[in-house]
Amino acid sequence: MTKAYKILGIIVTTVFLALGLPANAVDDQGRFVLVIDPGHGGKDPGAVNGKNQEKTINLNIALKMGKLIEENCKDVKVIYTRKTDVFVELYKRADIANKAGADMFISVHTNSAKSKSANGAETYLLGVEENRTSANLNAALEENKAILLENDYEAHYEGYDPNSPESMIIFEFMQNEYQKESLKMATFTQNQMVKSAKRPDRGVHQAGYLVLWKSTMPSILIELGFISNDNECKYLTSQKGIDEMSQSLYKAFKEYLDYHNKLIDKAVPTAQAIGNNGNEKELPVYKVQFMSLKKPLKKDDKRLKAYPDVDYYTEDGVCKYTCGNTTDYDAVQKTKAEVQKKYKDAFVIAVYQGKKISVKEAREITSKNK
Ligand SMILES: [Zn+2]
Repeated sequence: MTKAYKILGIIVTTVFLALGLPANAVDDQGRFVLVIDPGHGGKDPGAVNGKNQEKTINLNIALKMGKLIEENCKDVKVIYTRKTDVFVELYKRADIANKAGADMFISVHTNSAKSKSANGAETYLLGVEENRTSANLNAALEENKAILLENDYEAHYEGYDPNSPESMIIFEFMQNEYQKESLKMATFTQNQMVKSAKRPDRGVHQAGYLVLWKSTMPSILIELGFISNDNECKYLTSQKGIDEMSQSLYKAFKEYLDYHNKLIDKAVPTAQAIGNNGNEKELPVYKVQFMSLKKPLKKDDKRLKAYPDVDYYTEDGVCKYTCGNTTDYDAVQKTKAEVQKKYKDAFVIAVYQGKKISVKEAREITSKNK
């Protein structure tokens, strides 16, 4: 490396550090990021009925839905886990969404049952239902079996055994923080498939889908219909079926986007000055600084909603964004760990009597006042 390049490297690194932008940050310009995941692919056909394969139905309808969204929602960035007939591991699908900092993950599948008469569409979010039926359980077990085609699947799913219904227990105690948004999206989707594509309604359910388990954003899994039902299979592979299903999924996504944008408008931070945010005993407040920008974010920027108590202060002409607001040092460490999943360089700052002080000083004051 020449000296000039070295210096350039240092300058670039310094600028990144000063602005707090992690080098691997995704530049989505504050757009909503949607990840569409057409189930199965390549050596994994999914469920089959004669010559018809689930992977093809999923891909056709997912691509068409994505196209409608890209054409009509300019404020949305669409990412696909696959756009062709290739095999992608379940954990990698979730990884693609996590790395993109996605706001929504939609996995598209087609159901299958022993009984040829079973039909209709259903939508899932992650979880375990109190009144779970064996049909719901089996659908998830069947989908999760895709990992048997992965090399080294034991290494990626923390002991989950796709051959054992008892394995589902790992989902029982899961707290999904995105439950509310996932349920909204699932409900919009289910209603549109019934209303606009006129599919028999099998409802919204919860089950332990591995592909949803690994994603860290609101997420749903759609079972478009039953490939094992000859009529439904014919419909889902026809141009009419592809058009109607993708239209209904697009409409549902639009509804969710409106709902999401309204939430963001409400979440605009008001405080500009750095403050103790009304703590009476005048204890130092800890916050996590995660991002610095030359200009304040627009009020509809989704990053303002990414964490609790997002706020900013201005220092040396730079807007420094923080989140969390607590007098509890242990609590702020937890927040930091959470934020560092996305912003590797996030760190803790302390504020006391309207001024930024060192964390060391702040902890001394905290311990004296205990
Ligand atoms: Zn499937």
